[in-house]
Amino acid sequence: MNPITDLTNAFKKFPGLGNKSASRIVFYLLKQNEAELDRLGSLIANLKKNLKVCSDCGNLSYEDLCPICSDPLRDRKTLCIVEDIEALNAFEQAKIYNGVYHVLGGQVSPLNDQDISEGSAKFLLKHIKKLRPSEIIIATSPTVEGDMTKFSLMEVLKNIKNAKITRLAFGLPLGGSIEFADKLTLHTSLAARRPVE
Ligand SMILES: [Zn+2]
Repeated sequence: MNPITDLTNAFKKFPGLGNKSASRIVFYLLKQNEAELDRLGSLIANLKKNLKVCSDCGNLSYEDLCPICSDPLRDRKTLCIVEDIEALNAFEQAKIYNGVYHVLGGQVSPLNDQDISEGSAKFLLKHIKKLRPSEIIIATSPTVEGDMTKFSLMEVLKNIKNAKITRLAFGLPLGGSIEFADKLTLHTSLAARRPVE
């Protein structure tokens, strides 16, 4: 067993890291003192301890409510429905949106069932009932799955009155995922959002 090789192989599995980057990280770590290595090790070991799902929106959280839902400065009248936490993260990193989110926790896939699960639908409707938003933005990706998810969402939302339902305008690359959209593209698609037909 060789910890250097083992760790390099472990890093190679990380998204976006190849052999070269994995080696660079390991050599960087070899230059750190033991205390720093212990600190990094325990950060990883504790990453999922006490991790929960926000009881309002489905985001990951270490508290009952996530930092976004418990932030008094967020606009609770605008609710953006995203497919997953990666998409939420893309909006947050771009700093272009001040409303709140709802994380569906998956897409409707052509290979799986045709609809959003009953549990997800109930969770979403409960959130909407609590917030009473004036606008609901459907922010699914411009993919086959994203479109199917949108149609399924429209069915779930069909009895929602008093809220404008909009969808991102797609300057986003077709077939691309929101997660990988750059800030400008994301900003444009959000700013030019339009009512869902
Ligand atoms: Zn939340």
